[in-house]
Amino acid sequence: MPQWHPHRSQLELPHEFSVNPLFSRQGEQAISRFKMHNQGMLPETAYQIVRDEISLDGNARLNLATFVTTWMEPAAERLYKDAYDKNMIDKDEYPQTAAIEERCVRILADLWHSPQPHTTLGVSTTGSSEACMLGGLALKRRWQKARKSQGKPIDKPNIVFSSAVQVVWEKFANYWEVEPRYVDVSPEHPYLDPEGVLSAVDENTIGVVPILGVTYTGVYEPVEAIAKALDDYQERTGIDIPIHVDAASGGFIAPFLQPDLVWDFQIPRVKSINVSGHKYGLVCPGLGWVIWREAEDLPDDLIFRVSYLGGNMPTFALNFSRSGAQVLLQYYNFLRLGKDGYYEVQKTCQLIANFLSKEIQEMGHFEILTNGSDIPVFAWKLKEGDTPNWNLYDLSRQLRTYGWQVPAYPLPPGMEEVTVMRIVVRNGFSTDLAHLFLMNLKQAIEYLDSVEGSLPHQTKHDNGFHH
Ligand SMILES: *Cc1c(COP(=O)(O)O)cnc(C)c1O
Repeated sequence: MPQWHPHRSQLELPHEFSVNPLFSRQGEQAISRFKMHNQGMLPETAYQIVRDEISLDGNARLNLATFVTTWMEPAAERLYKDAYDKNMIDKDEYPQTAAIEERCVRILADLWHSPQPHTTLGVSTTGSSEACMLGGLALKRRWQKARKSQGKPIDKPNIVFSSAVQVVWEKFANYWEVEPRYVDVSPEHPYLDPEGVLSAVDENTIGVVPILGVTYTGVYEPVEAIAKALDDYQERTGIDIPIHVDAASGGFIAPFLQPDLVWDFQIPRVKSINVSGHKYGLVCPGLGWVIWREAEDLPDDLIFRVSYLGGNMPTFALNFSRSGAQVLLQYYNFLRLGKDGYYEVQKTCQLIANFLSKEIQEMGHFEILTNGSDIPVFAWKLKEGDTPNWNLYDLSRQLRTYGWQVPAYPLPPGMEEVTVMRIVVRNGFSTDLAHLFLMNLKQAIEYLDSVEGSLPHQTKHDNGFHH
């Protein structure tokens, strides 16, 4: 196991450790690592212990693997500190926080061209994962109701997406017992294509889920063409299959960088959309959104009305309590940036992605698969026929010695023999950092080229996290 995934080795550590003598009091010479200590300690001591340990974590700014926000400006940090203790679910105690959540729903519904932005339904969630579960559940319930009303069986629901879906859709299918139908990606169609969709759907399909910004490569799946194919299918068969768009990243990119792209509620078949507030919504971790096209697209019997916090609050969520701070930060960003600000931030990321992908292409070893022209994410592979003594996993490990986290991984089923490396350009990855990264990338390659003999290889997929 590489050192930065230390879970298994944790148990091999001594079961006790001692505290810096500057802080330790009587009885604190030996602190249990795996059992709760009998006595408490002073706040400063506990703080030091936790602080010291997390100093071994990676530097989030150098993490080019994650889509998730790793930096917010000081005013946002202040707002976070002011609000982290507000419980989002307690809408009776914090009515203005609830009102602001509601306002964010309206803003997103409008941004995505809902025909009813003032009355449609939507909620904030802990991230896109929860938002996708809710979107998927609504599809399932809607399908069940329609089938029941026609006196047809409801025991074999299926859902259709490409083999490049994010893991949350595999979870959805598994947890809610819906058969997942994967349409394999291919070199000709490295994304969900309309023909593939038509070959997978039938009367038991609860919905089709195109991804706006595929995790592996950053490309947009063609929502409009898929919707058109499903229109034709309905004309031929009478079967009406809705679309949920997983716009975890693209929901905050397309409205600003590709305003003419038709992917959202402008398409009547698109019934719900999710986005991660903590990705290109530019809020720190813990926030997603799901919005329905119109109120009637969310089956009413999925909504719970609870009274134990006072008031009678409708909720549709998997989670109950969580901080309201992220929702307030989303609204802060809407105010602070406006459409122009979001455009500037995302455009800058895209320019940096274009620049870096071009530079990497010119290095000679690599072929660029995507260049950041959809979401500001790009991927490359080793050039066909280029056989250096090292592979992309070695390069990933070598970059890590400079602090950069850049994952290498195989493409999804259908193209799994291709290994790629990917960079997610986020706000805060400046042109200055991009130049420094290129310098380190060249140094890493020089080093790998200079190693005689073959490098020791661990398991093929040892660089884990790339979602
Ligand atoms: C990140 C991502 C998810 C999961 O989102 P979280 O906000 O991390 O829960 C789902 N789908 C896609 C396409 C993603 O990129």
